[in-house]
Amino acid sequence: MRDNDLLIEAQRQFSICNACRYCEGYCAVFPALEQKTEFAEADMEYLGSLCHDCRGCYQACMYAPPHEYAVNIPKLLSQVRSETYRRHAVPGLLAGAFARPWLAFVVAALVAAIAMVSGTALRGSPAVLATPQTGAGAFYRVIPYLAMVIPALLLSAWSIVAMLRGVMRFANEQRAVGNLAGEGSILNALWDGLALTYLRGGGGGCFYPEADTPRAGRRWAHVILVLGIFSAFIATMVAAVFQDVAGWVAPYPWVSAPVIFGSVGGVGMIIGSCGLLALKRRSAPGLAAQESGILDVAFLWQLLGVAATGMLLLFTRSTVLMGTALVVHLCFVAALFATAPYGKFVHALYRLVALTAYLRREAINGDGELR
Ligand code: SF4
Ligand code: SF4
Repeated sequence: MRDNDLLIEAQRQFSICNACRYCEGYCAVFPALEQKTEFAEADMEYLGSLCHDCRGCYQACMYAPPHEYAVNIPKLLSQVRSETYRRHAVPGLLAGAFARPWLAFVVAALVAAIAMVSGTALRGSPAVLATPQTGAGAFYRVIPYLAMVIPALLLSAWSIVAMLRGVMRFANEQRAVGNLAGEGSILNALWDGLALTYLRGGGGGCFYPEADTPRAGRRWAHVILVLGIFSAFIATMVAAVFQDVAGWVAPYPWVSAPVIFGSVGGVGMIIGSCGLLALKRRSAPGLAAQESGILDVAFLWQLLGVAATGMLLLFTRSTVLMGTALVVHLCFVAALFATAPYGKFVHALYRLVALTAYLRREAINGDGELR
């Protein structure tokens, strides 16, 4: 469906919701849309980023298919989100990666693998990949410290700049339809985003076709995954301080902050992403745009791959498999960072902006109005 068709369809379905108003207590989307009768592109993107795809409104809707009105707000808003990500992609040339997240990830991982293996060959030590390495500096005898750190910093900087530029375009458009900045709005929005306030869908959680009542499983799996990512991030930061400030060179003992935080993070990411993948299989795929579903699943598998290869490296670090496990893990991490601006990760940023706008407009107008 082209942009304009999507806008016309959104206008049609939102008009029905405005007349009905049954779902106004379900999430932030309905109080926001009820304040408008005409919807521009920025309004539609705002509503799309407020939606958490809990499917509560579809389950409750008396006008959902096979009714002739064919109201399907979760599918409509997932189409809007896909268009939003593509429209604000930086650089625009890479916007197509949103439609092919697997291809983008595999290409990035292969480039990283070729660079690492050929770097090892150029140093004249390819055998190091299949030789047990132990003691301080074991990892750096496989991939030298600077060859790890410099690409990691460059990739992180690229990823952060591309994502922030894209989300700032979105934020600027939202500013055009309302005053985004305001005391406490961003912090409150951050809390609503992290606490998944609106994932309850007006009740106990998300809806699945085979269940009569909403289920909280998606919320819990999401929380475990996010905590796992935070724990892995803390492990990386602590390891950097150990390495670059205290001069303690990796690998670290089992009972040390980097290994404990890293293990908790890895297990959390594995449990969270497996839980979300299992729930995804049980959800009705027809209630989301195809591209949006592919993006979700690809991102979960990528996170699972990073966590699983990290745990593999931990358990093989004193064996002959360490060199290969290290290269594979670094390839997954590099590909995750390189493709983050063109994957599901951007939803967290767009959602933060949309929630900030919603809370700010509520504070100004008392009703989340799009002005
Ligand atoms: S989704 Fe259906 S039930 Fe909910 S407000 Fe819209 S028309 Fe009414
Ligand atoms: S968050 Fe849930 S209730 Fe709200 S619009 Fe999205 S699917 Fe519907």
